[in-house]
Amino acid sequence: MPVTLADIRAAATRIAPHIRQTPVVADPDLPGLSLKCEYQQETGAFKLRGATNAILSLPENARANGVVTASTGNHGRAVAHAAKQVGAKAVVCLSRLVPSNKVQAIRDLGAEVRITGASQDQAMIEVARATRDEGMTEIPPFDHNDVVAGQGTLGLEILDAVPDVQTVLIPLSGGGLAAGIAVAVKALRPEAKIIGITMENGAAMQASLRAGHPVEVTEEASFADSLGGGIGMENRVTFPICRALLDRVVLVSEAEIAAGIRHLARAGHVVEGAAAVGHAAILSGKLTLDGPTVTILSGANIDPGLHARILAGADAPETP
Ligand SMILES: *Cc1c(COP(=O)(O)O)cnc(C)c1O
Repeated sequence: MPVTLADIRAAATRIAPHIRQTPVVADPDLPGLSLKCEYQQETGAFKLRGATNAILSLPENARANGVVTASTGNHGRAVAHAAKQVGAKAVVCLSRLVPSNKVQAIRDLGAEVRITGASQDQAMIEVARATRDEGMTEIPPFDHNDVVAGQGTLGLEILDAVPDVQTVLIPLSGGGLAAGIAVAVKALRPEAKIIGITMENGAAMQASLRAGHPVEVTEEASFADSLGGGIGMENRVTFPICRALLDRVVLVSEAEIAAGIRHLARAGHVVEGAAAVGHAAILSGKLTLDGPTVTILSGANIDPGLHARILAGADAPETP
């Protein structure tokens, strides 16, 4: 495995001063189910763990030159916040199409924003230029050993909170979260099952696992927007780990994700769609609870207007 339990333990020590140990609470309506409330992490998502570990693992001279990413979502927020905390410069490259509130949110986290071109591809070109000409280091969102090890620290916290866990439900996109947790949990409790869950609309890891190599899928609008995007055609880390360690992948529909968001909101957890996929699978009957189960509430960053529409009954995302 490209990432080991020792890497994850080292990451836990390294990032401990910079992240929150988020609570694990019971779901009052679903006996046996525990919720890892990672949406209460600083910046509203677990991505802070991987980004912090990756930046702290850089050699001193690389850290001094700064880090760069093109993500507008939870990863971009995490890189901006983590860099600021450890005194490194962060640059986030965005296209002109990114809405101004998102741009401002990244600036507020202390990052330099560079707006280049009219597409994500052009933002990526600026990332490549900054790494080449300015000696900056790109922090990738999932396919990187130090990022995976950082996300894996959640696996250690889950085992501390629920030592007899039988099943862990993990929102799945590029697979950094699933790979990291799977390495930790399978090393310490091999009998536990690891189940990746993602939306029917654009399940890139599932399609890649079926094909036996990374494949591209068409993206559609989803309530679980943080689960969008591919796994990278040159994937080196998360695809092999997910192939080796995931016991199963479950796909959920938009209506099922909406039901998960509503269930969690009634219990006081305001989460984004990606965080509700475990509940989507259970409430729909696609998964049956069997022994102590933990689901990762991975993020909080949902537009308040969208959250309100879903609570009012919306069952399908608006297509852009
Ligand atoms: C990024 C993200 C995921 C998926 O993580 P991967 O490592 O890409 O599989 C799940 N939930 C939230 C909230 C995220 O931001």
